[in-house]
Amino acid sequence: MSPGPRKDPVAVETEVREKIHLEILKRTGAYHANDHVLLPSGQHTSEYIEKTLVTTEPSFTEGLGAVIAKHFAPWPVDVVLSTGPGALILSHCVARAHPSRPVVVYGAKGLSAGKRRVTIPVEFQRLVRPASKVLLIEDLVSTGSTITLLINLVEQLGAEVVGVGCLWRRTSVELTGKPVFSLVSRDFPTYDPEECPLCKKSVPLNEEFVRRRHARRPSSVQEPKAAL
Ligand SMILES: [Zn+2]
Repeated sequence: MSPGPRKDPVAVETEVREKIHLEILKRTGAYHANDHVLLPSGQHTSEYIEKTLVTTEPSFTEGLGAVIAKHFAPWPVDVVLSTGPGALILSHCVARAHPSRPVVVYGAKGLSAGKRRVTIPVEFQRLVRPASKVLLIEDLVSTGSTITLLINLVEQLGAEVVGVGCLWRRTSVELTGKPVFSLVSRDFPTYDPEECPLCKKSVPLNEEFVRRRHARRPSSVQEPKAAL
């Protein structure tokens, strides 16, 4: 490689790679740009990523998983750990492509005394041993709270987190000193409705995503009453 006098080639490569990955996420229908979106928080934004759609295209997910695996290939990994259905699909793809041939385990999210927590099913506990090298995989990291729970879980078991791989990370998220690799690192501004520039321009507000979340909630709570 010849040293270029212009832009830093690593920065250019990262920029190009992120653009490609954003296009892939757009193709799945997960990434929406140039919109005016109502967020569950009540704030407005121009971009949105719909978590449930990011891993719906197997060949894309495999390709993206392979990129994450390649990044972490120099590190030995015994276990790939995630939580949540989208992250689990991605973690399978990462593990499949990693040269250490790690096993895949997942944590279960729940509440304990009103606090969110992640636990490992008892069947997996023999797989995450003291000194096991664990790679954490997440689809979207927006606040970092799930990753922090996973890091704590691994460390409580005496194992070691070698890194965190994800499809998307909001750049405002700080993660406690672990190597993080995200295919897209991107943040977008969110606005209070009173201060929203899109509202000021009378751009119609897209409430679809919030409506879908509301519609989804009861169905995930009401288990079908199966006859036993
Ligand atoms: Zn607005």
